[in-house]
Amino acid sequence: LRRSSPSLSADRINVSFEFFPPKTGDMETQLFESVSKLAPFNPDFVSVTYGAGGSTKQPTLNTVSRIHRETTLSTAAHLTCVDASREEVDAVVREFWDVGVRHFVALRGDPSGGIGTRFKPHADGYANAAELVAGLKAFADFEISVSAYPEKHPESPDFMTDIDMLKRKVDNGATRAITQFFFDNDTYERYVERVRRAGIYIPIVPGILPIHNFGQVARFAGMCGASIPTWLAERFEGLEDDAQTRSLIAAALAADQVMDLVERGVHDFHFYTMNRAQLVYAICHLLGLRGRAPQAEDKAVAAA
Ligand code: FAD
Repeated sequence: LRRSSPSLSADRINVSFEFFPPKTGDMETQLFESVSKLAPFNPDFVSVTYGAGGSTKQPTLNTVSRIHRETTLSTAAHLTCVDASREEVDAVVREFWDVGVRHFVALRGDPSGGIGTRFKPHADGYANAAELVAGLKAFADFEISVSAYPEKHPESPDFMTDIDMLKRKVDNGATRAITQFFFDNDTYERYVERVRRAGIYIPIVPGILPIHNFGQVARFAGMCGASIPTWLAERFEGLEDDAQTRSLIAAALAADQVMDLVERGVHDFHFYTMNRAQLVYAICHLLGLRGRAPQAEDKAVAAA
């Protein structure tokens, strides 16, 4: 690890944390313990994902509402428009509005047949994320974040098409892009250069995925077009039965990735927490962030 980095100054680092809606009571406990552990880092926002085909509307809504009720954290709800009419999506938006959501991560979503199958827009629906962004902006002046793909989205024939979609999302009102996870920082840097050359100037916030389970990450990466560098796979070789060492290696790798990005001038980070706090907590600490004293609201979360 780099011992000191001239560009590392904690007051210039901004973080956000992504969670997914829990399926069981135990998972909910784990999620809210993680929220409580990470809250003192004062994230810009925490986001809650939305299940494929709208399958987790209610859990997403419940999770966001509970975070609102029990903490002072700013939240963003992910929202997809796959397999739904505009009317249905707008009704969901109203429900989120009613629980206080003012920031969306607006997404098209994966085809209902699963990643890799052909996407077919709903006849009366938003055809892609750019249309969804426009629909959200027509509803209210939401803050809107969108996706970005440093290795391009697997459905995009080329980078031009991919970046053109990002441009449309920005033209319609998105003010932040969060990237798909990646492990090669050169790939991210090249992508940001391409995006800037296309006249897009919103923050392209790197999505950082600490590797809790290498096999799972490798499978998922294969589906969503993210590559696993050979050197990364080699780091986990032979450790299939050694969870403790895997976890130490994952921490070292993620820390190295974010510190290298800081040296390249990146100050905003979005962490895919997988609802677990420990690795992300350690990385934030390495970034120089220190928790503020727990607030009454945070204590309420911890006690719940
Ligand atoms: P868009 O921005 O509409 O398109 C992405 C790219 O695909 C574009 O660049 C475009 O060129 C290409 N493309 C799209 N449609 C076509 C087409 N018909 N033909 C050719 N090319 C096309 N999924 C969930 O279900 N729930 C979530 O909560 C969620 N959160 C996410 C958060 C982040 C930060 C990211 C990066 C992804 C997330 N996803 C989520 C996954 C996302 O839904 C999928 O990647 C989906 O396939 C594309 O959605 P999008 O909003 O990126 O699509």
